[in-house]
Amino acid sequence: MTRIAFLGLGNMGAPMAANLVKAGHTVVGFDPVPAALDHARDSGVIIAAEAVGAVTDVEIVITMFPSGKHVIDAFREGLLAAATPGTLFIDSSTIDVDDARTARSLAVTAGHRGMDAPVSGGVGGATAGTLTFMVGADEADFAVAEPILSVMGGRIVHCGDSGAGQAAKICNNLILGISMIAVSEAFVLGEKLGLSNQALFDVASTASGQCWALTTNCPVPGPVPASPANRDYQPGFAGALMAKDLGLALGALEATGTAAELGPLAASIYRRFADEGGAGLDFSAIINTIRNNSGGAAA
Ligand code: NAD
Repeated sequence: MTRIAFLGLGNMGAPMAANLVKAGHTVVGFDPVPAALDHARDSGVIIAAEAVGAVTDVEIVITMFPSGKHVIDAFREGLLAAATPGTLFIDSSTIDVDDARTARSLAVTAGHRGMDAPVSGGVGGATAGTLTFMVGADEADFAVAEPILSVMGGRIVHCGDSGAGQAAKICNNLILGISMIAVSEAFVLGEKLGLSNQALFDVASTASGQCWALTTNCPVPGPVPASPANRDYQPGFAGALMAKDLGLALGALEATGTAAELGPLAASIYRRFADEGGAGLDFSAIINTIRNNSGGAAA
């Protein structure tokens, strides 16, 4: 069994750490927010008094932080210095590709190993242990991490070297953000044209409009009973996180000179959505903004 430090015991980190404990690993955790520690403590995570105290005697450190700045600051401000030489740092936060590469190179320079392993699947997937991990790592580090990631995930994809996991995450969520807007615009247009939501779903879900935003996270209540639209758009995948991920995608589009038009537009649509009340709602609630801007529901 492996000794693991888990830092960042928030919505995602706490259930991920809990699954590692359930699998028999020794998990030492830390989060500066006391409320975030409760779930972790109850599930058997040993709580350290501070982040550096958690990493001193472990083989693997997993970080699950809000942003790249949190990751790099924590690495620079003590984690790397406190860890035993050769520790494998796995960052599962969703951050910029460049930040992921910087974090890994800081780890390597300090005598450790490092990889990016962001996830998709949300809090439900974190709790069930069915996350998809997108990994940017060299072969040897991937081989060490895979059995540990498999405890928390149902699918572990080695996407390439450092940064490739974050690249895959950003590209996937670019598809997701744009396709949710497309599906939502189509439903509102259908309503305006007198088409029932169910009829449009029955056609598009088995035709060329088929996509995850339609068939799993359908933005109207009814056709997919488990979608957040059926419970007042409680997330699910929060608007704030979609705005964040599309912000990362926008930065990457600009940095690479990719001639994208829909990506920047989707980023600005979700930024506004999050700022104007949608941050805590599922991102599929964007349909209500589109409907309201279209003069409301059809008579
Ligand atoms: P969260 O805000 O609930 O948790 C992040 C935690 O990190 C917080 O509790 C914070 O106090 C802690 N933290 C910050 N700096 C720290 C430090 N130096 N040491 C220890 N703890 C520290 O966020 P979350 O929803 O758990 O998301 C975490 C990451 O996963 C984000 O990057 C997010 O984009 C990504 N993600 C989230 C989801 C989701 O559905 N929530 C899905 C996929 C990916």
